[in-house]
Amino acid sequence: NDLSPSTTTIANEKLLDGLIVSTFEEASCLSRYQSYLYRKASPHKPSKYLISKLRNYERLHRSCGPHTKSYNKIMSKGANFSKINAGTKCKYLVWTASNGLGNRMLTLAAAFLYAILTDRVLVVRFGADMFGLFCEPFPDSSWLLPRDFPYWKDQTQIETHENMLMNNKANGSQELLPPFLILNLVHSHDGHNNFFHCDRSQDLLQKIPVLILRSDQYFVPSLFMIHSFGKDLSKMFPEKDTVFHHLGRYLFHPSNEAWELIRKFYEAHLAKANERIGLQIRVFNTHRAPHQTISNEIVACTLKHKLLPELGMQKSVDSPLKKQTSKAVLVASLYSEYGEKLRTMFQENTTVTGEIIRVYQPSHEERQKSNNDKHNIKAWTEIYLLSLCDALITSPKSTFGYVAQSLGGLTPWILQRAKGQTVPNPPCQRAKSMEPCFHYPPKFDCWANSTVDFTSRFHHMKYCEDTTRGLRLV
Ligand code: GDP
Repeated sequence: NDLSPSTTTIANEKLLDGLIVSTFEEASCLSRYQSYLYRKASPHKPSKYLISKLRNYERLHRSCGPHTKSYNKIMSKGANFSKINAGTKCKYLVWTASNGLGNRMLTLAAAFLYAILTDRVLVVRFGADMFGLFCEPFPDSSWLLPRDFPYWKDQTQIETHENMLMNNKANGSQELLPPFLILNLVHSHDGHNNFFHCDRSQDLLQKIPVLILRSDQYFVPSLFMIHSFGKDLSKMFPEKDTVFHHLGRYLFHPSNEAWELIRKFYEAHLAKANERIGLQIRVFNTHRAPHQTISNEIVACTLKHKLLPELGMQKSVDSPLKKQTSKAVLVASLYSEYGEKLRTMFQENTTVTGEIIRVYQPSHEERQKSNNDKHNIKAWTEIYLLSLCDALITSPKSTFGYVAQSLGGLTPWILQRAKGQTVPNPPCQRAKSMEPCFHYPPKFDCWANSTVDFTSRFHHMKYCEDTTRGLRLV
C-alpha cells in the first residue's frame, strides 16, 4: 500500500491532477485515461476548489440527471407547460447546437461553467452529427437530453428571456414565471443578451427551473462580469486564463471511434518527431487573399519565430550521415493546397539546420459541413491532434483554433488577415493567453444606459489580438 512516487505521479497525470475521477469503466472511453500518454502534463494545476466544485457537480448530476425521478417530474411533466413546484431542488440548463464544432465546444464549456455557478444540471441536445464525438463526461449518469423533452418537438410555445424583458414580465411573482425559458446568446442576436452579464438578469434566470441555451459564443467573460459569481470564480480559477484549459480537458474526451483515428495518426506521423508544429489554416473568405499569399504568410511566421528552419540548397541524392533531428508539421485546413505546398517545399530542399521537416495534412474537406457526423469526427480529430503539438500557428477569429490551443495549453501565434498579394507585416502575433476569445461581448453597462470598456473595469480581460471588439481572459 506504499505507493512509490512514480506510481503516484502517473496516477496524478492519468487523472489530470484530479480533474477527472477514476471510477469510469475504462473500455467505454479509452481516451479518458490514455490522453496523458500523448499530451505533456500541464504546468497549470486545477485548484482544490475547482476540483471540489466538479465533485459536487457530479453528485448533483447523478441525483438530478436524465431518467432520475426529479428529471422525469420536471422535464417530462413540464411538457404541458403547467406550473412546476417551486420547491424542486433540480434545475436544468439545456445546451443546443449552433454553428461549427469549435463554436459548439466553446459554448458547451461556457454552459458547463454557468451550470456549476448556478447549481444547474447540464443536459445536451446532440443530434446524429454529434453523438459519435465525445464520451460521457459525468460519472454514473448521462448528459444527453432524452428524446421526450418537449424542445425536440415544439419550440414555438416556449417563452424567451427577451420577450420577458420586453414585456416587463421579469418582476412577476414566482407563480407567473414560466417553467421553461429560452436564453438566446447567439452572436447575431443582439437584443436582450447585452444584459445577460447583469446581476438583475441572473436574479430572474435563477428562478426558472429549465433554461434552454442557444449560443455560439464563448461567453465566459460575461460570467466574470457578474458580481454574484465573482468570489466563486476567483477561487475556482486563481489563474484566469485556464478556464477552458481545465473545463475542456474535463468535458471533452474523444469517443473510442475518434480516439482510434487520433491515436493512429499520432503514432504513424507525429510521435517520433523531435518537435511537432501545428498549423491551423481557416480561410473564411477565399476571395480576400489567394492561397499563395496565405502560404507565404505562414512561412514568414514560422521563420520569424524560428518554428521552422530556413531552406538551404536543393536536395542532392547524398544523404548526410550525422544524426538528424526532425520536425513534424501538422496542417489542418479545408483546402489541400496548404499541405501540398509545404510538403513540396521541404521535399525538394534541404534546411540550413539540417533538420528533416515532414508535413502531414489529415484531411481536406473543401467546405464546412457541420451537420454531418463523418465530417465532424474529422474536425474533432484534427482539433485534438493540433492540441498535441508543441507549438501552434492559428488563424484569426477561428474557434476551431481556440479549442485546440486551450486544450493543449498553448499560446499560439495568430496569423494576420491577409488581403490580395501582400503578406502582412508582421505576419503573425503571439496571443496574450491560451483562452478563447469572446467575439461579441456585451457593450452596455448594467445600470447606466451607456457603453462601457470592460477592459478598464476588469484587469484580467483584454481585447483579443484577432478581433477588435472581442474579449479574452488573461
Ligand atoms: P470556426 O468557424 O473557424 O470558428 O470553427 P468552427 O469549428 O466553429 O466551424 C468550422 C467548421 O468547418 C469545423 O467545425 C469543421 O466542420 C470545418 N473545418 C474548418 N476548418 C477545418 C479543418 O482544418 N479541418 C477539418 N476537418 N474541418 C475544418
